[in-house]
Amino acid sequence: MRVAMIGTGYVGLVSGACFADFGHHVTCVDKDAQKIERLERGEIPIFEPGLDDIVARNRAAGRLDFAVDLTQAVREADAVFIAVGTPSRRGDGHADLSYVYAAAREIAEAAEGYTVVVTKSTVPVGTGDEVERVIRETRPDADISVVSNPEFLREGAAIEDFKRPDRIVVGTDEPRAREVMTQLYRPLALNSLPLLFTGRRTSELIKYAGNAFLAVKITFINEIADLCEQVGANVQEVARGIGLDNRIGAKFLHAGPGYGGSCFPKDTLALTRTAQEAGTPLRIVETVVGVNDVRKLAMAKKVMNVLGGDVRGKTAAVLGLTFKPNTDDMRESPALSIIHALMDKGMKIRAYDPEGMEEAKKLLPAGVTYTSGAYEAAEGADCLVIVTEWDAFRALDFERLRKIMAQTVLVDLRNIYRPDEMQALGFTYESVGRGSDA
Ligand code: NAD
Repeated sequence: MRVAMIGTGYVGLVSGACFADFGHHVTCVDKDAQKIERLERGEIPIFEPGLDDIVARNRAAGRLDFAVDLTQAVREADAVFIAVGTPSRRGDGHADLSYVYAAAREIAEAAEGYTVVVTKSTVPVGTGDEVERVIRETRPDADISVVSNPEFLREGAAIEDFKRPDRIVVGTDEPRAREVMTQLYRPLALNSLPLLFTGRRTSELIKYAGNAFLAVKITFINEIADLCEQVGANVQEVARGIGLDNRIGAKFLHAGPGYGGSCFPKDTLALTRTAQEAGTPLRIVETVVGVNDVRKLAMAKKVMNVLGGDVRGKTAAVLGLTFKPNTDDMRESPALSIIHALMDKGMKIRAYDPEGMEEAKKLLPAGVTYTSGAYEAAEGADCLVIVTEWDAFRALDFERLRKIMAQTVLVDLRNIYRPDEMQALGFTYESVGRGSDA
């Protein structure tokens, strides 16, 4: 089949490359001419493990093209995916759908023959109706079905997630569209295709309900972690103790600095706005949004407290800037709020991240010192703060750190290390949710 992927970001490039790997012919389109130039030169504009190989392989096989203009790709396509960004709209927290509607208009102008327009971007319930209206208004004669097919991949494990998904949700009532979507995903059938067909609005809501549920789970364990600290319990053991119950499940029960990233913050907020407008506010999700916001500042306070409160002139070495390991994505990363808060109190920051520093430089205040590694960051620091659990930080040489740091203090916001081991090594150690029996 022929696929046009409109928007070549984290979702569009991975989905496009994976569809090409299935044997389809894919053109990835992006308005960002620089991005397309880089891709044509064989460069991958984002960091995602394994993506370079899969792009190179399918380019070489002639199944993957790139373009700035969508006209030809859309004209030839059986399915056109909209995978553009849907960031939070400034001011009200609604999803900004302007990129989606702009893409829909352009697609309508270029489409020829029966075309399935698939919304892969995360969009509020009812957006498919509006995409359809925009298309019909632009091209009343177009033979088009508008389908919802939300994406559930995780950055850092995106290819594996795309190729071995827990489920693929497709929202459409139209048999012709259903057939095209089945053909597109058929190569996954070897692993017994987990295709779930629903109505379009239901499909749109599944994506938000899924992300909101995961955000609730993370925030729940974070609050339990706070309680553990007060009452002398260990959150990792609580998480294990409840996670072994199949009704609860072990995933997303890692206490930490609060959720971030390009999806959970904006999607939870957008869902609360949708629900308020529908007259059925989602109080749990509203609370989660508020609790998570406050948490990042609480993490900065943890650092200040362990240093005795007055941190002016002191130095924190921050290890890990991205919102999670194995990505270069800095959007809404907890490190941003934590570093801002520490700098507001007069702290100096030395920072290192294996992949995120280019993006971080665009988002963090001038004055942060970026280093070439964890030990370079730690040089002369009063405190080491692990914000993101990259593998590179999991086996630090504490003897070496002891020699180069001004004070032997570690704030481990991902609970990578053990309190008893850190004590034995002579480090003052703070982590998350590990009270006195930790
Ligand atoms: P992104 O910002 O990385 O990429 C979006 C791309 O779309 C950009 O390169 C932009 O230049 C391009 N674009 C915008 N308007 C365009 C147009 N009219 N024509 C062509 N290109 C256009 O965004 P992303 O992280 O890939 O997210 C895309 C969507 O997928 C969002 O709705 C997001 O919520 C959703 N999603 C993201 C993830 C994730 O992990 N990043 C996971 C699941 C779902």
